[in-house]
Amino acid sequence: MLFRELADTYERLEATSSRLEMTEILAEAFRRFDPSEIRMATYLTQGQLYPDFNPIKLGMADKMILKAIAFASGAGEAFVQELMLKEGDPGLVAQIAFQNRKQTTLFPEPLTLTRAYRTLETIARSEGGGSQDMKIKLMSKLLSDASSSEAKFLSRVITGRMRLGVSSMTVLDALAVAFAGKEDRGAVERAFNVSSDLGLVAEMMALHGLEGVSSIHVQVNRPLRAMLAERMSSPEEILEKMGGTCAFEYKYDGVRLQAHICEGEVRLFSRKLDELTSQFPDVVAGLKRTVRAESAIVEGECVPIDTNTGEFLPFQEVSHRRGRKHGVQEAMEDYPVKLCLFDCILKDGEDLTDRPFLQRREALMSIVEPDDSVTLSEIRVLSSADEAQSFFQEAIEDGCEGLMAKSLADTSVYRAGNRGFLWIKYKKEYRSEMNDTVDLAVVGAFAGRGKRKGFYGALLMATYDVATDTFQTVSKLGSGFDDANLAALLEMLSGDRVPERHHLVDSKMEADFWFQPRLVLEVRGAEITLSPIHTCSFGSVRPDSGLAIRFPRFTGRFRDDKEGREATTSQELLAMYQAQLKRVE
Ligand code: AMP
Repeated sequence: MLFRELADTYERLEATSSRLEMTEILAEAFRRFDPSEIRMATYLTQGQLYPDFNPIKLGMADKMILKAIAFASGAGEAFVQELMLKEGDPGLVAQIAFQNRKQTTLFPEPLTLTRAYRTLETIARSEGGGSQDMKIKLMSKLLSDASSSEAKFLSRVITGRMRLGVSSMTVLDALAVAFAGKEDRGAVERAFNVSSDLGLVAEMMALHGLEGVSSIHVQVNRPLRAMLAERMSSPEEILEKMGGTCAFEYKYDGVRLQAHICEGEVRLFSRKLDELTSQFPDVVAGLKRTVRAESAIVEGECVPIDTNTGEFLPFQEVSHRRGRKHGVQEAMEDYPVKLCLFDCILKDGEDLTDRPFLQRREALMSIVEPDDSVTLSEIRVLSSADEAQSFFQEAIEDGCEGLMAKSLADTSVYRAGNRGFLWIKYKKEYRSEMNDTVDLAVVGAFAGRGKRKGFYGALLMATYDVATDTFQTVSKLGSGFDDANLAALLEMLSGDRVPERHHLVDSKMEADFWFQPRLVLEVRGAEITLSPIHTCSFGSVRPDSGLAIRFPRFTGRFRDDKEGREATTSQELLAMYQAQLKRVE
């Protein structure tokens, strides 16, 4: 097939913004194209060479394509560069330069789709010394056999600027129209959702029609599109929607990971299907240790943790682990993570997407032996809104975002790539952002672990309650201390040690060490939340909750100008909470 046929289709697609028209143009083209080449055509339509999850991407630098255009068209570099300044699009530059081309090839080689695709592939894959010159040469050669329209699209695709406006959903529409019927659109989309590979779906449809796509299943090392959740704002509403009973799980706040395990090898993919394997060697090792299966696809949330407090950290911390090529080892030590698994999509080669939720959970339990680094999500099957609400409070207290409710119906299959009410998220309703720092009294401490062995790992911090003359706990503080601070704290607190909880301290939490409340530290938190475990202003907002400071961090400032009773009061914290309360819809 000639590349011209594809370029003509692109010209027509470019001329419309109507999804319906695009579908018609594409469907007509798909019927005409050679089935064995439809896969390449489909990727190129999306401005790609491969499916999304393939790390090899197109993206030649502008200055390189301009050189190739100048050379192949004979237009001269200065002219081409000036044109680029004016047009800002190498595609248009190529089109104009080739309309006025001064140079033609005497014996042009036919520009077939296969030839164009293979050349683009070679360019995308070549790297290292001398590769720049080689890329320019290859592109010039291709362009010298191209018409101005072909040159336009080749220049766009190679620079990652295809943008025809044809979404993957439109391609699926067109495939259904071209090779089956509109009513079969669902089956075509399912094949895409479980394979994430539009080219594969197009090829199977063109070669074998509906039967072809129904043979596409979940497969190890080919990520599937993630199942998504709807949102609701109360447990009552959720339980009603779920038919009275459902599973509630902690909604962890981190990075979603889809782990593919096959014969001892582990690969990790993000929600957007990018491969993250090399960025999380600790998670890879954790999965190798804990998952017992020949092959499996499991899904979970990777959450940053403070190894000293055992608490989750703000999800931003995990972003230090993303997109790294160097320093992976250091990042791994500085930003440890834990993987909380919540689904099993494939087990020992068997596709479980059509199984109801509890069966998939059982499969997950049957292959995972949890440890410190890989665990299963906290889960409870509940029918009472009150119980769901207290589970929600526990989740918030444990540093989670809220709960995920999951349907237990027979129809609760894993719907790849779909957002629906089989999963419903229930996020923090009571949340108050902190703009100000607070001064908190140290009332207890926990023994350090790992790097903090021999020091305090975390401190139990409290506000001062004026009404009862007590110190009420608000958080466990483990962040923001450097080595010097840790050593200083041992020293500073040594005189304050008491054998058991000080009588002025009101705490539901058991600390390893207790202090008389004297030392005051300046702390910055991310937000104030409700907590059943902390005693600050207990019962003031909800009968069964106090206030907690989430994600506390020592600012580095010891408030030695203050004594214990001058710490921020519980009344002040309550006022801050109320002043900044945000209702998340
Ligand atoms: P959102 O990003 O707010 O739409 O919420 C959906 C995300 O919550 C998912 O993509 C997961 O990354 C994350 N998540 C955290 N915990 C769970 C869980 N137990 N089950 C499913 N998804 C979860």
